[in-house]
Amino acid sequence: MKILAVSDKDDSKLQACILQNMQFLQDVDIVISCGDISKSYLEFLVDSLKKPLFFVKGNHQTFHPSDHNGYLEKFISDIYETDKHLSFGGSNLHARVEQFKDYILVGFEGSMKYNKGPFQYTQQEMTKIVKKIETTLYLIQFKDFILRRKKRKVIAVSHAPIVGIHDQKDLCHQGFARFKVFLNKFKPVVWLHGHIHFNDQRNAQITKINQTLVVNAYGFHIINISDDNVDVVSNAKNLL
Ligand SMILES: [Zn+2]
Repeated sequence: MKILAVSDKDDSKLQACILQNMQFLQDVDIVISCGDISKSYLEFLVDSLKKPLFFVKGNHQTFHPSDHNGYLEKFISDIYETDKHLSFGGSNLHARVEQFKDYILVGFEGSMKYNKGPFQYTQQEMTKIVKKIETTLYLIQFKDFILRRKKRKVIAVSHAPIVGIHDQKDLCHQGFARFKVFLNKFKPVVWLHGHIHFNDQRNAQITKINQTLVVNAYGFHIINISDDNVDVVSNAKNLL
């Protein structure tokens, strides 16, 4: 499976590659956004590539799924909680489990709470959310076991990093501790996050922790998963 992961900036280089219909983008299966990306940029990716989009919101997310709808649509959306799906077809992964091909996707939005802004969580608040997903995953894995299905691999998506991996000391950029517990329990094949910005993408942050490849998706990255192999092709390697 080939993933186009984007995060934290609307990347003009990627837009140019898409407009030129470059080879490395042609067999992308899925687009994953780790947050803090504009709605118009996500719409451009979905419209151009015509692939499913899964996303989590970053701490600077300004769009609301129904921000171009009227009050009535927003009212209905709030009642039926349809805001997990954007109008252009993207699926919000936050605190949810989605099944895509042979993989199970899970997602966690936002960052550590550092002011009164939206999409921020304390360690305790995020721990509660992650534990809920852990229970759901155990149930899915148990069901797969009973039905003698092949164990499906997990792909984790978050805006904030995992504690101790690519995170920083200041409160805003600290990683969540429960992410590490989740990583050790479920051994996702890949963990995509954003939130940590770096100016030169040749300094890509890609770290292997046991069986999991942890990738800071800042800008954009292409990730290939085949059996137990995970390869990351950053834009730096492709384009610079
Ligand atoms: Zn952020």
